[in-house]
Amino acid sequence: MDLRKVRRDAESFVRAVSQEVYENYAGLKEEMDTAAIYRQYAHLFSMELLEELRVRRRDASGDEARRLRLLQSALTDERLQDAVKELSDRRATEEAKREVRVNGETMPYRLAAVKQQNEDDRTRRRRIFDARLGVIADLNGILTDRWNRLHKLAMELGYDHYAHLFGDIKGIDFAHLQTILTRFLERTESLYRDGMEAMLKPLGLTLEAAEAHDINYLFRGKAFDANFRKEDAVPVLKRTLKGLGFDLDRQKNIRLDTEERPRKSARAFCVALQVPDDVVLVTMPHGGHDDFSTILHEAGHAEHFGNVKRTLPFEFRYLGDNSVTEGWAFVLEYITLDPEWLRRHVGMEEAAAFLDFTYTYKLFFLRRYAAKLNYELILNTRGVDAMDTTYAHELRKALKYQVPPQYYLVDVDDGFYAAQYLRAWIFDAQVRAALREEFGDAWWATKGAGAFLKRHWSTGQKFSVEELLEGIGYAGLDIDPFLEELETHLSR
Ligand SMILES: [Zn+2]
Repeated sequence: MDLRKVRRDAESFVRAVSQEVYENYAGLKEEMDTAAIYRQYAHLFSMELLEELRVRRRDASGDEARRLRLLQSALTDERLQDAVKELSDRRATEEAKREVRVNGETMPYRLAAVKQQNEDDRTRRRRIFDARLGVIADLNGILTDRWNRLHKLAMELGYDHYAHLFGDIKGIDFAHLQTILTRFLERTESLYRDGMEAMLKPLGLTLEAAEAHDINYLFRGKAFDANFRKEDAVPVLKRTLKGLGFDLDRQKNIRLDTEERPRKSARAFCVALQVPDDVVLVTMPHGGHDDFSTILHEAGHAEHFGNVKRTLPFEFRYLGDNSVTEGWAFVLEYITLDPEWLRRHVGMEEAAAFLDFTYTYKLFFLRRYAAKLNYELILNTRGVDAMDTTYAHELRKALKYQVPPQYYLVDVDDGFYAAQYLRAWIFDAQVRAALREEFGDAWWATKGAGAFLKRHWSTGQKFSVEELLEGIGYAGLDIDPFLEELETHLSR
């Protein structure tokens, strides 16, 4: 194996896929053809190559061992994607073309989700929900085949099961993460129950009686839209970054794509076409709180990749544990939960109701992901059979309302991305606590905090979240700063 050629080709492959994804999602091109790129680089995903990387990794040490693990991890992930790409395409095609009928009205399956979330009438909302469940039952056939195939492949790669494979290549200690989250679930149980009951009461509902569509509807949060106007999104982003010492207008390596195009994705996203020299932040603001938080989140990815040291090896610039880049993205996103930021940047003078809403939402989200992780560890060690009841049971235990068992496969992301988000959320709360301590509550308006971030961003994804946290004085992942933040804002 010519390792230097493998690294060169892997970089070209990653960049080609990013370019293709960017052009499609930014609405510059209608069709997406990653399959042709996969064919061109098929030699990178051979069993022999993956096995050789695994062996070399065992014999290497220091940075080289780290680079080999990241390379093995990325190429293994791509091999799995390559093996199920027809099934992934079939799922996407079904989702795009299926329709549901509600009271004589026909609507596309994907759009029905948006309508459901906006529907004030509960009876009609439930009808849309039921109609969508019919399509999901059909998708489950495709997804069962897909997960069986992925689980079988993990074993062919020499691992006991899929969970074991991902624990190893992503370097995540699932058992430790579960221990942290078990404590979190216990500690926040009454805070969660009280918060949800208080928010559901005006809808005439209790948590026990609420259904999944009621919860989606509840968190739409339309009441706060007036403060988050679409035309302010980009100026507010620029002003916020300027407070930290980053001038987006002068950062030539970070392009802001704000042009309106009919086929452009409504959700902001960031693509690193070449790290750190060509990073694109794609946005088409539509207004509302989550529009602002998403733009800041994606700007976090953009500044992270845009500030990576150019001389770092390819693996540390492009690959690695995404808990890190998600963590930095959350650090910028959650600036939007600071009352002083809300006052200064979006003119919200009285933030208590808004903070109550957003922190309850955040608590809901973390509990949901903690339950998802518990479930995914069972699913990805035992296999798909009879997992629908396990899914409903695990989620209900944490969320206390009726979670439909039919969601047991559509609600699962590949490769334990749920675990990476959870690590990123814990990391983010720890980093912001450290920033507040060093630079004050309004750390986001200080150049010192900007310099701190820039220093850490320069290492790309070379280090794990645990190592980065050790570098700022923690002993590793610690849920306490997050708990303190929640309890401060949600104490009733
Ligand atoms: Zn992200």
